[in-house]
Amino acid sequence: MYIYKDRSVIYNLPPINEDLLTKESLTSYLVRLSNEHQLTVNDMVRRVLEIEFNKNSIDKKINFSKYLFENSETINGYGKSASELVIALNELSSREGIEKLTFLNWKKLIPSRNLLDKNFKYCPDCLKDWKDENKLYYPLIWGLNLVEVCIKHQKRLLNYCVNCNEQITFLKGKMVLGRCSKCFGLLYDDNFLPQKINVDGFQKYVHINLNYLISLDSIDYESCRNDFINNLNIIQTKYFNNELKSMSVELQIPKTSLYEYLTGEQFPSLKNLVSIGYSMNLSIRSLLEKEISLNADSPKSCDRIDIHKKTSGGTPIDRLKMKEKLKETLVRSEPTSLVRVAEEMGRDRKLLYNHFPELSKEISDKYSEFLKNKTFQRRKVMKLQIENAYYALIKDGIYPSRRQIENKLKKPGLLREKPLQNYWKFLLKRDGYS
Ligand SMILES: [Zn+2]
Ligand SMILES: [Zn+2]
Repeated sequence: MYIYKDRSVIYNLPPINEDLLTKESLTSYLVRLSNEHQLTVNDMVRRVLEIEFNKNSIDKKINFSKYLFENSETINGYGKSASELVIALNELSSREGIEKLTFLNWKKLIPSRNLLDKNFKYCPDCLKDWKDENKLYYPLIWGLNLVEVCIKHQKRLLNYCVNCNEQITFLKGKMVLGRCSKCFGLLYDDNFLPQKINVDGFQKYVHINLNYLISLDSIDYESCRNDFINNLNIIQTKYFNNELKSMSVELQIPKTSLYEYLTGEQFPSLKNLVSIGYSMNLSIRSLLEKEISLNADSPKSCDRIDIHKKTSGGTPIDRLKMKEKLKETLVRSEPTSLVRVAEEMGRDRKLLYNHFPELSKEISDKYSEFLKNKTFQRRKVMKLQIENAYYALIKDGIYPSRRQIENKLKKPGLLREKPLQNYWKFLLKRDGYS
């Protein structure tokens, strides 16, 4: 490998960093960087970065590349994988500020528990826009557990591939941005754009305050923590008469955790920090930066939503209602995936399967039939385009290689899709090129 041999540098590729809420994640940067070098992610990590990992790693026994791929969701966080990758990239490209593509700046303040999503989430509309602007990438905040919507497009982020319905990992050896890491299907296909939703007040609050939290850079974490403890105690005294129980109910945080926050034994997770701010109608900045001035009478009680309710659901099961809902999805004009049905119901897919195996299976089957048809139609169109590009290249005296065809169609990675690749090979073979 040429880059490896002369140990020269890797390109000093600028990250996409226009605005705090949409700035690029490290995993996205790594994929783009690999593509710029005409390398797979696997080659970039194992052949180029590995040597730097070994140089810097304290624990020589760890196979760092393997660790990276197996824990890819942590790369954008602030654990070992994030910091070692930042060091290696900085060393090899002499680019400063790579750490800004992670949440490393929160390390000293916010506990890592439940911070990051295990699976990749995305907004197909954003990808489509960025593709058109020729800067396809994935923003950092999509990796946060707390972020569930795209504020710009007012849509729910998807946590599965619209083509194969599988969940997507953050980093794979042959990953291409904009495509599923498992089936290589397009993630922003016009046929699969999600519906608009009404973004709730909580998600709006999350985004506004993330803007502040992400901007924290050279902040005095010690004083932040002290101000927070102080402020929380003021809140307890002023609003809750120093009663832990009513405070716990109002803020929807367990008493034991709240006690630890009040005494400073523990700093809240991002979710609980945001939940305190939201419930009290205070910005995170005012909780962390100065002594808060509490106006008016009581914390806001209107517009309450259960921010702790997750899709796996704690609410009791109303079998009849659920059954009705499942039946209703079966007669929709456009079939819905079980994952999405589960999401609409605020339930886990597995729960639906356990309680209503037959209905669930029917929904799944119907949806995969629908997908198959859709994929079939799309592939038909793609094959036609490939064939056109193929002939156009031959006409120009250019060998219709995989890359040439992909470039001509402006669809990098297109021929990784097996059926399309086979079609291309078929054309080559038919015309005696291979
Ligand atoms: Zn979007
Ligand atoms: Zn897929």
